[in-house]
Amino acid sequence: KKVEKVELVKVIATLNDKFPHPLNGEYAFVGRSNVGKSSLLNALVGKKVAFVSKNPGKTSTINYFLIDNRFYFVDLPGYGYAKTSKKDRELWRKVIERYFSERSWNMKVMFSLIDSRHELMESDEQLLEWTQILGVKPVVLLTKIDKLNSSERLKQIKYFENILKSYGIERIIPCSSLTKEGLDEVWNVIFETQNY
Ligand code: GDP
Repeated sequence: KKVEKVELVKVIATLNDKFPHPLNGEYAFVGRSNVGKSSLLNALVGKKVAFVSKNPGKTSTINYFLIDNRFYFVDLPGYGYAKTSKKDRELWRKVIERYFSERSWNMKVMFSLIDSRHELMESDEQLLEWTQILGVKPVVLLTKIDKLNSSERLKQIKYFENILKSYGIERIIPCSSLTKEGLDEVWNVIFETQNY
């Protein structure tokens, strides 16, 4: 398994922008700003060009990356940046709301990225509550796991297993774009939903 081609095929920036052809489904990636989303996406596809880290707090777009002409990785705008204005937060909410209402039917998996080093933040909780209401069960990717030593790692994984259970989430994958830990498992989740 190796990704041959990654193409940014669609940027949804305004309400007038249309979603792309459904193809073989889509995989959404969402998380707080700075959680390590761009790094992880780059590490997953093994290319350094496709995913660019956005300015923290800058309300942004929904970016559709076509993977090997088969399915999409959907880079959703980051949330939870402390300095974001109320107006931008509301815009983020509208963008995500639109995404879920218009596209969740084509979503094969939603990957919810959470920084392994911290506790679950209020904005993470809000997102998870939201997905619960929508009946979407995300797969949680605990990012930057390489930054923890073995005892911190055990403690944090236990903590997240416990707290995420209350959201009905059982699938948690510790990940690192640095050491590549967890990336094969993420691909397995994707393959389970594809006949790649
Ligand atoms: P984004 O805002 O969610 O797209 O986050 P980025 O991918 O830009 O990463 C934010 C910061 O965390 C950058 O300084 C990255 O180098 C760092 N980072 C991202 N992933 C990892 C990781 O797996 N391990 C370590 N140690 N640092 C990471």
